[in-house]
Amino acid sequence: MASYKTINPFNGQAVRTVELMSSAAIEQRLAAAESAFPQWAALSLAQRGDYLRKLAAGFRARKDDIQATMTAEMGKLRREALAEIEKSAAACEYYADHAADYLKPQPIPTEAQNSYVTYQPIGCVMAVMPWNFPIWQVIRFLAPGLMAGNVALLKHASNVPGCADLLREAVAAAGIPEGVFDVLHIDNEQAAEVLRDRRIKAVTLTGSERAGRSIASNAGDQLKKCVMELGGSDAFVVLDDADLELAVAAAVKSRFDNAGQTCIAAKRFILVESIADAFVQQFVAATKARVYGDPNDDATSLAPMARADLRDELHKQVLESVNKGATVLLGGEPVADSHAGYAATILDNVGPGMPAYAQELFGPVAAVIRVKDEAEAVRVANDTSFGLGGSVWTADAARGEKVALQLECGAAFVNSVVKSDARLPFGGSKRSGFGRELADHGIHEFMNIKTVYIA
Ligand code: NAP
Repeated sequence: MASYKTINPFNGQAVRTVELMSSAAIEQRLAAAESAFPQWAALSLAQRGDYLRKLAAGFRARKDDIQATMTAEMGKLRREALAEIEKSAAACEYYADHAADYLKPQPIPTEAQNSYVTYQPIGCVMAVMPWNFPIWQVIRFLAPGLMAGNVALLKHASNVPGCADLLREAVAAAGIPEGVFDVLHIDNEQAAEVLRDRRIKAVTLTGSERAGRSIASNAGDQLKKCVMELGGSDAFVVLDDADLELAVAAAVKSRFDNAGQTCIAAKRFILVESIADAFVQQFVAATKARVYGDPNDDATSLAPMARADLRDELHKQVLESVNKGATVLLGGEPVADSHAGYAATILDNVGPGMPAYAQELFGPVAAVIRVKDEAEAVRVANDTSFGLGGSVWTADAARGEKVALQLECGAAFVNSVVKSDARLPFGGSKRSGFGRELADHGIHEFMNIKTVYIA
């Protein structure tokens, strides 16, 4: 039987070998999901909420095990992993508390004696998830999904199977009935087959544009609803009146946390010329303080990238950008003698035609683009095929809001880095995807929005 190996990105050692599931094992999980659905959907919201609260408690109780697995499999810093686990637990509690409100029938006045919209679960949703936030990405789909009354099957990224199994164990330990959530260790071909199965009602993907095209076209072929959370190249627009100290601190955090492997990380730093030199000088100085090292060591502030092949791809994008005229202010190369480390890098004078301008840099590389004024900043911010998030930095909140409203993206923040938060809808426009996760929009994505009309 085919198998795959996972490698610790800090030390290059093998972590685990995972066998791909057989057709019989997949069939058993699809059948279990189908039979679990009616009972799960029939529970009250209060009952499902109690399970979610137990799941939150379980995450907190096992946080050290979960952190160790995240760090071994994809290199996340220990403190970042612990923060992610806490955020995931809090999201379970958030949906336990708020689902009843989000799912209340909505009365619609018409000439009927009663007309309203109600929300009903649809069955088993397949989730294809990435490795960069291996717990949070799953929970931000799963917590609302379970509260909605749906059941789920997860195909996690092939470098984080241990995280997937810990999620399954946590759900089982919370007493959530068998079949409500399970994990499929399968490859992309098997995933396409599972998506075709009649028992899968919809699919959600968080991942690259390449995966999005493949899964969305399979879902389209089967007329199944899909949500696509894809890549981004978020603009970080700094206007002439910005508080540079605040903006620089935010820039470093947004670009270099999680080794730069965050979909909503600021990636293109668009600086108006009057503050560009001052910003760049402070940005370089603050970024130098990021120290590469063992992600389990709390003194480390720059993690390894998740895989050596991803690091090598990033380096190619940097080299090509430099060949086309970008200047390296800091870094610009792999960390010497590391398995998957890449130096914290700042490229200046980035412009059209360079990978750093047009593509997503999914690692610790900042692209600085200098512009004349606010109008050019908006034009450049929107000169991308992506539309996930963007931020604007200015002392004038009304001016910031005006610019934010012109950004072509799913979330525009003023004087704050773009973040995901259970209270706020999250998702992209343009080629960053479609559909929303989190808040009320997220819980409604995989429900039948049913109109009831009683004449
Ligand atoms: P990826 O290579 O697209 O993988 C994501 C998931 O899709 C993995 O489970 C992967 O499985 C699976 N996959 C890939 N190709 C597939 C196919 N043809 N059919 C079925 N499944 C397929 O992306 P990644 O490198 O893990 O993640 C980084 C990307 O995700 C970045 O572009 C980032 O911006 C994006 N992202 C977006 C968001 C958002 O909310 N918008 C959040 C986080 C990350 P295997 O591992 O087995 O290949």
